[in-house]
Amino acid sequence: MEKTITKSQIKQAAQEAYEATKDIKGGLNAHYIPYLANINPDLFGLSVTLTDGTCFNFGDTEYKFGIESVSKVPTAILAMIQHTPAGVLKQIGADATGLPFNSIFAILLENDHPSTPLVNAGAISACSMVAPQGDSEDKWKAITENITALCGSAPELIDELYESETATNFNNRAISWLLKNYNRIYDDVDMSLDLYTRQCSLGITSSQLAVMGATIANGGLNPVTQKQVFDPDISPKITTMIASVGFYQHTGDWLYTSGIPAKTGVGGGVMGVMPGLFGIASFAPPLDDAGNSVKAQAAIKYFMQKLGLGIFTGDKITIVD
Ligand code: GLN
Repeated sequence: MEKTITKSQIKQAAQEAYEATKDIKGGLNAHYIPYLANINPDLFGLSVTLTDGTCFNFGDTEYKFGIESVSKVPTAILAMIQHTPAGVLKQIGADATGLPFNSIFAILLENDHPSTPLVNAGAISACSMVAPQGDSEDKWKAITENITALCGSAPELIDELYESETATNFNNRAISWLLKNYNRIYDDVDMSLDLYTRQCSLGITSSQLAVMGATIANGGLNPVTQKQVFDPDISPKITTMIASVGFYQHTGDWLYTSGIPAKTGVGGGVMGVMPGLFGIASFAPPLDDAGNSVKAQAAIKYFMQKLGLGIFTGDKITIVD
């Protein structure tokens, strides 16, 4: 069906979604990373960026929270830019695990592949693929410059979070060395894990994440800066990965009920991509049992349902003024 939606309908749906879900309780802050355990659980923001660059923001949309696993998306994109989507498929994979983000079992089940760059194993592997090889500072520069280009503004390292994660990332150390054993780490192991830990500790806002989502939805052209960040053929590849594993073991339920591919992080962020139309992001610290923000899920679902949207509806949507 052909459908036309106005920008004011979108703005109103976002405002309503924010108001209707802001008092939702439930979930717990990530407890295994001390810094995250202590963040104010009532923070909440909802941001939408359309592919023409229009932005709508409600609530705490300028608060810098830990990007955590949402950072797996930009670094997967960077690995695709540098090594092609086929190269990432060969060296990491593109399979959903159906298991928790930090699963060691998933590595064993997938015949020693890290599965996908959107779980911890594949993300550490993706950090190891980032060029230039062997140079931690230049690799870090490539990672942060790519995030800056996708968001149109720079993220900021939260030192306390980085220290907190580095001091407690024992499971990720085990994953890294297991992958090394299977020849799936393509640079120094400790350096690759450190880059992953550092990228997870970047502070980002929901308004920045909505722009990143819109850049992906817009074939790699950042609609705010008008800069082409990556080749259009990467968009369907990264969106496929987001759709298949973005909520880990709850990904099927999420896509079934919300209709939008989205990626979560244990900092409470969720970034959704509606191809051709918009990016959406929400942030609220309390998480469900899979590490996905409870309130951010509710807000994005409300928004999608209010507008009757979903990637599999078959509708041809046009957004007008
Ligand atoms: N840094 C976190 C970890 O490695 C990220 C996990 C997440 O956001 N799901 O455990």
